[in-house]
Amino acid sequence: MMKLIFLGPPGAGKGTQAAIISKALSIPTISTGDMLRAAVKAGTELGKQAKSLIDAGKLVPDAVIIPMVAQRVAQDDCQNGYILDGVPRTIAQAEELEKAGITFDHVISIETDDAVIRDRLTGRRVCPGCGATFHVTGNPPRTEGVCDVCGEKLIQRKDDAADTIAHRLEIYHSETEPLKEFYAERGLLRAVKDTGGIDSTNAIIMDILGK
Ligand code: AMP
Repeated sequence: MMKLIFLGPPGAGKGTQAAIISKALSIPTISTGDMLRAAVKAGTELGKQAKSLIDAGKLVPDAVIIPMVAQRVAQDDCQNGYILDGVPRTIAQAEELEKAGITFDHVISIETDDAVIRDRLTGRRVCPGCGATFHVTGNPPRTEGVCDVCGEKLIQRKDDAADTIAHRLEIYHSETEPLKEFYAERGLLRAVKDTGGIDSTNAIIMDILGK
């Protein structure tokens, strides 16, 4: 059983590391960002409500997020654990998860400088089909502009535009970063300095997990 949270600014590599660890430990990654983008793509009522908030880099209300996560972790494939990516995003969300009896073994905070983040998000390309993430120079797909996993054409997320990045970083520092203290008080915080390399950062995380 391994229940993890990945914390860190947008573009720190949470999704990339979560994908590697999901595969290594055979546990699912629960990304609220991916779930919301899927709802937008499917054109559901929830997707319609969330779209403008996501595009503007603003947070979607807790009343949407918490039930979405609670329902997801209750599914069968989460019995041996799971990785949360992009949630909790605020102290209020962390408290709500605690109230719902959703517990964790480790909270891995990937520490990255804002300047690095700006560059990384500008070069990020994502697959609208399967959610796989690439970077034009740091983690390029085998064929330029095409997803390695499912072959769809890669796109740039609308919220990876320069002015939206600045706003998302601001929200990270004011709303999400206080979670480090919240989980440190509970003895769960594991800070990992971003090495700049996917494999070398992964090695540090695996070590923390004792894997
Ligand atoms: P992400 O893929 O984690 O960067 O999330 C993309 C966007 O989805 C965010 O900028 C928010 O608009 C929304 N979002 C994702 N997760 C959450 C969350 N836990 N709470 C509120 N909004 C969220």
